[in-house]
Amino acid sequence: MTRRDVRRIVQSHRQREGAGFIVRRPVPTAGLEQVDPFLMLDEMGPITYAPGEAVGAPDHPHRGFETVTYVLAGEAQHEDSAGHRGTIGPGDVQWMTAGAGIVHSEEPSDSMKRDGGTMHGFQLWVNLPKADKFMAPRYQELKAAQIPVARSPDGLATVRVIAGKALGVSARIETRTPIAYQHWTLEAGAKVDQRVDPTFEGFVYVFSGVALISGREVREGQMAILGDGEHVELATSEHAELLLLAGRPLREPLARYGPFVMNTQQELVEAVQDFQAGRLGQIVRAPMP
Ligand code: FE
Repeated sequence: MTRRDVRRIVQSHRQREGAGFIVRRPVPTAGLEQVDPFLMLDEMGPITYAPGEAVGAPDHPHRGFETVTYVLAGEAQHEDSAGHRGTIGPGDVQWMTAGAGIVHSEEPSDSMKRDGGTMHGFQLWVNLPKADKFMAPRYQELKAAQIPVARSPDGLATVRVIAGKALGVSARIETRTPIAYQHWTLEAGAKVDQRVDPTFEGFVYVFSGVALISGREVREGQMAILGDGEHVELATSEHAELLLLAGRPLREPLARYGPFVMNTQQELVEAVQDFQAGRLGQIVRAPMP
């Protein structure tokens, strides 16, 4: 069984998003457009807002890919042009397939806006294959308790399996193309060999502490892009937390412009025109009582 060594370590940069919240973004970044099929990973916070300070991303469109929101702390609320609305709290996942197009808003919950609080979470963008870019939008929303958790035999490594399989446990999320999304919590002395399908591209993003990824030191805020092979070694000598993301690459032409990710420039032009003409819909809000 060949080990996937670290091909490259990428330092995330900080970026302002939405109405002005700051994210830590390992991809895309200078010299790295994507890790096919992953278009973007944003770490939101951790940040503690004072009352009245918390901001989000007001009404905006998406077409051609999926947005996956994973909340660790705080509470986010969303509404969209298909009539969905809801809140996602600590440990919850929302896997939204924008497909042909949707307009949504992503905000801190009303109580977080009013009272303040700590927000921490991730938003991942997963590309859709050409054949699925115009599929009907859909949601998969899982509460924390619905996400399978597994532990290594020595109890030093815990994994929440958001997509795919780890330590013999399978996720509930259905993905369009094969994807693994794992959140690992490692305690000092942990050492796990995790299988990663050899046809996948993937990376590890460390967001707390320092981890040894196939023997290479990776620090908080760094992403380790994995080389070829069948498994990756996850180890640490202190408390560390990381995301392991891997998926079968689409290897299709990529044309991206803000919230639209298509295969050609012409499709991007059409996406902008469709949005401007209101064809991606709008959020209907009940009048305030
Ligand atoms: Fe969005």
